[in-house]
Amino acid sequence: MIDSHCHLNYIEKSGAVADLVTNATDNGVHTIINIGTDLKSSEISVAYANQFDSVYAAVGIHPSDAKHSNDQVLAKIKQLTTEKKVVAVGEIGLDYYRDHSPRDVQRKVFKQQLEMAVELKLPIVIHTREAFDDTYEIVKEYAFDIPSGVFHCFPGTVEQAQKVFDLGFVISVGGIITYKNATMADVARAVPLEKIILETDAPFLTPVPYRGKTNRPALVKHVYQHLADLKQIDIAEVEKTVDRTVQKLFKLVETFGE
Ligand SMILES: [Zn+2]
Repeated sequence: MIDSHCHLNYIEKSGAVADLVTNATDNGVHTIINIGTDLKSSEISVAYANQFDSVYAAVGIHPSDAKHSNDQVLAKIKQLTTEKKVVAVGEIGLDYYRDHSPRDVQRKVFKQQLEMAVELKLPIVIHTREAFDDTYEIVKEYAFDIPSGVFHCFPGTVEQAQKVFDLGFVISVGGIITYKNATMADVARAVPLEKIILETDAPFLTPVPYRGKTNRPALVKHVYQHLADLKQIDIAEVEKTVDRTVQKLFKLVETFGE
């Protein structure tokens, strides 16, 4: 199993990162993609990837942090992408729910990083919240020149998911699919298994039966199990298909064949 989106740096307070990684491995999670949200967390993400075999890094500026971005910050992010285990630019996008950065600044920094992904030929990890239409319209301009991408913690409808697939991208779903009456679960049930990858977004959005506790990569197995239940298929089939999708998306060739 693969946790395709987590933030080990934010869980660190509640446990050493080495323990979290070991705990994940012990629970069948052989790969973890750690996601940056600003320059500092992107640097930490790369450090974890260098330290732990099973950890890979994405680097980027989250829309909430866009107000702190500038040419120098973006140059440093770009520099980080030259590190061996950096597999994507992310998370990048638009967040009109929290509005922590002015929307025009969010759009500017999003576009700058999409241009970076085009230039570097790297996949992207997209965050979008109450901003699907703007996110989609902007991504559409670049999608053809970007190898692939994922709309993480997908907040949209089945119709919006189809638009994402038409770009050649996939969606990621997490612990929310284990919650009662979750639209995300309906979407996950309705769309093809080949178009879905799974995540914890740890330390946030802890899946049932651990809801209320701090999330961690090992708990992604509950998301796998729940997707299997929604699709009424065996968890082994979910694991085989989903892991393959993640490996292709982020070009994790060294884990192929497992
Ligand atoms: Zn995240």
